[in-house]
Amino acid sequence: MIGSVTTRYASDGCDHEPAPILSVEQVQRYLIERVLPVAGKEVVATETALGRVLAEDQRSLMNIPGADNSAMDGYALASRDIERAGEFRLVVSQRIAAGQVGQPLAPGTAVRIFAGAWLPPGADTVAMQEHCRIEPDGTVVIPGPVTRGANVRRAGEDVAAGACILRRGTRLRAQDLGLAASVGLARLPVFRRLRVALLSTGNELVEPGAALRPGQIYNSNLYMLAGLLQGLGCEWFSAGWVPDDPTQTHEALARAAEAADLVIATGGVSVGEEDHVKAAIRDIGHLDLWRVAVKPGKPLAFGRIGATPFLGLPGNPVSAFVTFCLFVRPFVLRSQGIVCGQGGADTVPRSFPVVAGFEWSGAKKRCEYLRARLRLTENGATIVEIYPNQSSAALTSAAWAEGLVEVPEGHTVAHGQTVRFFPFSELLS
Ligand code: AMP
Ligand code: MG
Repeated sequence: MIGSVTTRYASDGCDHEPAPILSVEQVQRYLIERVLPVAGKEVVATETALGRVLAEDQRSLMNIPGADNSAMDGYALASRDIERAGEFRLVVSQRIAAGQVGQPLAPGTAVRIFAGAWLPPGADTVAMQEHCRIEPDGTVVIPGPVTRGANVRRAGEDVAAGACILRRGTRLRAQDLGLAASVGLARLPVFRRLRVALLSTGNELVEPGAALRPGQIYNSNLYMLAGLLQGLGCEWFSAGWVPDDPTQTHEALARAAEAADLVIATGGVSVGEEDHVKAAIRDIGHLDLWRVAVKPGKPLAFGRIGATPFLGLPGNPVSAFVTFCLFVRPFVLRSQGIVCGQGGADTVPRSFPVVAGFEWSGAKKRCEYLRARLRLTENGATIVEIYPNQSSAALTSAAWAEGLVEVPEGHTVAHGQTVRFFPFSELLS
């Protein structure tokens, strides 16, 4: 990610300690260096292992395919029988369907064979059914020459016996489960799920389902963060809601830390007098508070309550969403034991260049992440557009979007300029 690497300082306004201003990249690096992956393992049925993180390398004890077999429905033969151009007429000496084992090929004959059936000893090539003609007397006419080995899947060409098929630290995808099953693995050792406590802070919060009184809002962050964590394969639980009160905040954080591998709070880490999370963590643990040079986002706290890591996200829902994508996601994925760059799981999101279909004046001192969507134009080009309301409180922007456009610190965007787009597939899973 782009960002300045110099550390600047500003007063955090509340307790008059300097709060360092860090770049996105600095914060990502800082957090990743502090990951302690879960150590606990469990063995689960392969069909239930989707999204779990493999805890041990998996080796195949067998070749895949197990033997030379036909890739097509057709006629198996010995290529030396059809070395020249022209038509060859062969007697069909046997029929082998998938799952059957044939007899050795009688010299000078062909075998009716179906996809997946093992080649009989003596056959080395398959002529596709579509290229062959059956005569009324039952013989088959095959056009020569055939290429030796055509339409044959060789024993072990996919997986050689003894090969490592899946590495420890891989987040298992559907194709990984299929691969494990293909070598006969009915169960897989995985790391236990990361257990995350979510704490909501603020006098104004009410849970959906209850009536709102004047001045109150519904707690949206809990529901959004619960969804984000489930998308990453975590277990989560609500550590409750606390009003803006130091004692209750302190108690709720301590309780959450006992039951969880990670505590995430939203709100209360800003500079206001009603922000009690910072003080509470400082009382019972250790806290680093930053102003991240990111918009939306800015206040972000990392600390420990005993041995349990703590992340404090901004209260504004879009700020919480973006900081989750940028900072919490890489931290959570690695805490689950994922090894970066393996099995398609890059814990730091990847972006790709797209042409801007919008203008943006840019935040001068912060890297911005705009809620954006791709659009195919009439002439077949792909451009990226942004939601008109980019307020950090407007969750509609995130719900509308397909990803985020990064505007580096000090930059503006003109129509037609190339910008970096992070699709949500890189940020939410
Ligand atoms: P804070 O960081 O506590 O100063 O909160 C900043 C803004 O985010 C305020 O407008 C809060 O009302 C709002 N906010 C805080 N927590 C939540 C939440 N759980 N759901 C929705 N909005 C919230
Ligand atoms: Mg608050």
